[in-house]
Amino acid sequence: MLTIRGARVIDPSAGLDQICDIAIENGIIAGFYNGGGEIIDASGLICAPGLVDMHVHLREPGYTHKETIETGCRAAAAGGVTSLLAMPNTRPVADTPEIVRWILQKAAGQPCRVYTAAAITRGLAGEDLTDFAALKKAGAIALTDDGRPVLTAALMRKASIHAAQLGLPITAHCEELTLAKGGLMNEGENSRRFGISGIPRSAEDVAVAREILLAENEGVPVHIAHVSTRGSVQLIREAKRRGVKVTAETAPHYFTLTDDMLATRNANFRMNPPLGDESDRLAVIEGLRDGTLDVIATDHAPHAPEEKADFASAPNGVIGLETSLAVGITTLVEPGLLSFTELIRKMSAAPASILGIPAGTLKPGAPADLVLFHPTEQWTVSPPYHSKSINTPFEGMTLTGRVKMTLLGGNIVYKK
Ligand SMILES: [Zn+2]
Repeated sequence: MLTIRGARVIDPSAGLDQICDIAIENGIIAGFYNGGGEIIDASGLICAPGLVDMHVHLREPGYTHKETIETGCRAAAAGGVTSLLAMPNTRPVADTPEIVRWILQKAAGQPCRVYTAAAITRGLAGEDLTDFAALKKAGAIALTDDGRPVLTAALMRKASIHAAQLGLPITAHCEELTLAKGGLMNEGENSRRFGISGIPRSAEDVAVAREILLAENEGVPVHIAHVSTRGSVQLIREAKRRGVKVTAETAPHYFTLTDDMLATRNANFRMNPPLGDESDRLAVIEGLRDGTLDVIATDHAPHAPEEKADFASAPNGVIGLETSLAVGITTLVEPGLLSFTELIRKMSAAPASILGIPAGTLKPGAPADLVLFHPTEQWTVSPPYHSKSINTPFEGMTLTGRVKMTLLGGNIVYKK
């Protein structure tokens, strides 16, 4: 028996926000009472369900100089994340049952529960569909070609219908490559001023519109990854009003940073899709506030320092597991844009529900996966990080809210 004593317990899945004790027995939440046993004094802290990050690049197999399953899971634990969905753009690509099983085996016993998405098309090449049924049987819980769009609408239509038949969520990386081609940042006033090649917003908007229309016509669900433009927020909002089964996520950098940061020519501000301008940032925040955007996920994308050294040739992506909660608190909760309950819902119960995994709740009987954090403590983002990589766009920023402890199945997997 273990008792967490005196925390402000916020569980959006149960409509709970009150100071109480939590009893944990055999790795399971027993109830909201003092069960005795070992006591963790959590007065002054918020206790929430362990976070669920449905967009993480763990890089293993194949790119272990950037991250490994182990270092990625340690970064997750340090950020209060207790369940994550690993993206399949590894080397080899997670497009066969063997690779899916290999990843899941390697992830057993890590300080975070690892779920894996499998590729929609073989080798992410956008041509032939993978064997969805076999991948599901091997343990994959979602499908995506993330990093690349599914090239043709016909193939995406076929994939969505088949995925829906099997009950597998499908995540769309929305990028029209013929429009995005060659761009390094958002196209606009800043790209012209900085002399950096731009990517028009339409590269994302056109692709989001396609996925919405395909889902609408077939009556099947689709999840839109990393929403970054004002146009896609509006498309998703209108689609939801029409009853389209669309869900969507955004990432902390899109509601916190803008393309002004590209003036530095620091490749840690380069990701795909690129940072938008202030109108996009505000639209993303409005989308989070009115429920258009269901989920906050990091798109944690580690790259080695030498890969990120040259602005123009650097690969896209930033790390985010260790900062997502604090960035959410700093940008959204502190200024009163979102309540703690809503922030936590978008980082736990909402993604758990889309993925259909037993997470994101503190209801008695659930696994005792939880995060304890100080809601007002400030800290400055600086190395060392638990991730193997250091490509964070938040370095040097002072954030509010600090993870103090993460429990996975009742075991302490991170302690500050
Ligand atoms: Zn993507």
